[in-house]
Amino acid sequence: NLPLAEVDPEIAAVLDAELGRQRDTLEMIASENFAPRSVLEVQGSVLTNKYAEGYPGRRYYGGCEHVDVAENLAIERVKALFGAEFANVQPHAGAQANAAALAALINPGDKIMGLSLAHGGHLTHGMKLNFSGKLYEVAAYEVDPQTFRVDMDKVREQALAERPNVIIAGWSAYPRQLDFAAFRSIADEVGAYLWTDMAHFAGLVAAGLHPNPVPHSDVVTSTVHKTLAGPRSGVILGKQELAKKINSNVFPGQQGGPLMHVIAAKAVAFKIAGSQEFKDRQERVLEGARILAERLTAPDVTEAGVSVLTGGTDVHLVLVDLRNSELDGKQAEDLLHSVGITVNRNAVPFDPRPPMTTSGLRIGTPALATRGFGSTEFTEVADIIATALKGGADVELLRNRVTKLAQQFPLYPGHEEW
Ligand code: PLP
Repeated sequence: NLPLAEVDPEIAAVLDAELGRQRDTLEMIASENFAPRSVLEVQGSVLTNKYAEGYPGRRYYGGCEHVDVAENLAIERVKALFGAEFANVQPHAGAQANAAALAALINPGDKIMGLSLAHGGHLTHGMKLNFSGKLYEVAAYEVDPQTFRVDMDKVREQALAERPNVIIAGWSAYPRQLDFAAFRSIADEVGAYLWTDMAHFAGLVAAGLHPNPVPHSDVVTSTVHKTLAGPRSGVILGKQELAKKINSNVFPGQQGGPLMHVIAAKAVAFKIAGSQEFKDRQERVLEGARILAERLTAPDVTEAGVSVLTGGTDVHLVLVDLRNSELDGKQAEDLLHSVGITVNRNAVPFDPRPPMTTSGLRIGTPALATRGFGSTEFTEVADIIATALKGGADVELLRNRVTKLAQQFPLYPGHEEW
């Protein structure tokens, strides 16, 4: 029972350094967040020791009476949070949830139709090196070249021509809301299942600040660690009639033993996501993204060739358009890193630059909202980013402004004593 610092000082140093990095910089990767202390405690608990193949009340191992309680709580809470008939809380991550969802709906060789990766879709929606592109036939839809939005008339036309077995609504990099009712009606017209992957915007849905895809979809998958701010993991929601198929395609279809420490931490995260504090936080997430989009479309920024895809945002992220900027995505990512702001470069649709450099940045506000940022701080961050991207700024000065903000909102205070 020796402490980590004694058993493995090298790994202890990694943990210390990473905590320092998270504290000293501003995290604006749109898919990241800070799990609360309560979630971290459960993830680092004795539940990691338990094998529990199967489902609550129907396990292949003895001694599951306590972990059953945790899994049932996670299931009931997530069903209530999103108004779902059925939930499977065992997927280890978003990609596993998606693999199981597709396997439950269709057979290898069947056709899926999702947003193309280059236009904001996810790897698991049909990218050729991913299981989804290898197992299934893929007909990807794209955003409109003028508006950069998903055009539902074009999706319908394509669905009628392609006759997919599953239509996918969902994205990893798209700044607007999707029309789930329109997706449902197209799916019905062509006899396809509708699968929504709400990994990115699930926290906004939980807070009632984004349309809920659950009533419209046959299956909804999500990660739990992005806007939901829970443990790194996945979840599947669906209609009761698909329950058996989804369960058997998670276990034994995709996975072995469930991660009971993570499932219990999901239960905690779903409880928090039902609170008023969480709703207030998601409002700050949206406000922050709007403030950022507004600042990055002001004349002094657009004059430097920088702007925002679709001209704004309805969600927790902004897609910066650098096609007319001297900076490419890689240079812009590195520049912001040097002032202490972490973002990721992202190809814009129809990107003229290669995938390793790109012409875009994806910037999200969930982690900073969790840290406590409100409109005043988001206004300051937006100005730091705008000043950096315009070019020619004093990096040291910007770095000092970042440090001041970081110090104002201590992350995991007292962590050393936990
Ligand atoms: N689905 C979407 C839309 C995502 O953006 C992501 C993560 O980036 C995933 C699924 C996959 O989640 P994970 O990284 O947990 O496998």
